[in-house]
Amino acid sequence: MECSSSHGSASEPHAALFFVLGYLPLREIFAAQRTCRSLRDAIAGDDLLWRGLRVEPPLSRKLTDGALIEVASRAKGRLTSLSLVDCWLITDAALRRVVDGNPCIVKINVPGCSRLTADGVVNLVHIMVDQKKEKEKKKRVVEVGINGIPGLGKEHLHALNTILAGEECSLDVQVCPKCDDVRVVTQCTRESCRATSVGQAVCRGCNFCIARCAECGGCVDGSGEDSACFHTLCLNCWLRLTKCSLCNRAVCSAHLLTHPGDLPSPFTCDDCSDPFSPPPYFDL
Ligand SMILES: [Zn+2]
Ligand SMILES: [Zn+2]
Ligand SMILES: [Zn+2]
Ligand SMILES: [Zn+2]
Ligand SMILES: [Zn+2]
Repeated sequence: MECSSSHGSASEPHAALFFVLGYLPLREIFAAQRTCRSLRDAIAGDDLLWRGLRVEPPLSRKLTDGALIEVASRAKGRLTSLSLVDCWLITDAALRRVVDGNPCIVKINVPGCSRLTADGVVNLVHIMVDQKKEKEKKKRVVEVGINGIPGLGKEHLHALNTILAGEECSLDVQVCPKCDDVRVVTQCTRESCRATSVGQAVCRGCNFCIARCAECGGCVDGSGEDSACFHTLCLNCWLRLTKCSLCNRAVCSAHLLTHPGDLPSPFTCDDCSDPFSPPPYFDL
């Protein structure tokens, strides 16, 4: 990102940049901060910008407890939404400090934060709900995302449901009817599966128990069709998706978006483009 005005001068950033700041991921905001003093001042002084904090890969791998506490402090006690995706270094103690210092938090999403403990998360949600009851009677805890926290069991889920009773809250995990573990449980998107209660029961489950198409969310028989992005694909989606011009494997739409180059010029998957790796169709 570069600072330049509509007249091309290098002194002042374009006014539009200030408006898009709120939509940028944290990594881009940090990058913007380093471009010039006006943007740095605007970012530092913008309380609203810091009220919702979302850290996701690749930045999440570097987020330490100290860094989290520092970034959260920029909300000046008004943080309302905290989303930490795969932040492996974050501990219960740091998260507790952030929640203690920000009594307005109504949404906490910490999937894959593997250093957090299930007991710590239950405790944290308890504190959030108590803070709400004390400070702002009208506001409710609205969202709790804890998929992938190590050791999360039925007793924790039961404790959370008890704490959150009466709150209009969404919790991302349930007990999977197939494996009996606490995980994200999804219902099939396929109309034919949803038509009968038997059908609904057959393919309702967690991702470990039911293979689902990455494109449409429908259940898939076996391992699904050949994909070049290693996501599971159903036959219907495979037929309409873009295929690699060399190996004829399909890629899901999300992967295609991240692929460099202009489409629909012939698409070549990562395996086939890699000069050091033999294409998969030679691997017989
Ligand atoms: Zn399961
Ligand atoms: Zn599909
Ligand atoms: Zn199904
Ligand atoms: Zn290929
Ligand atoms: Zn994919």
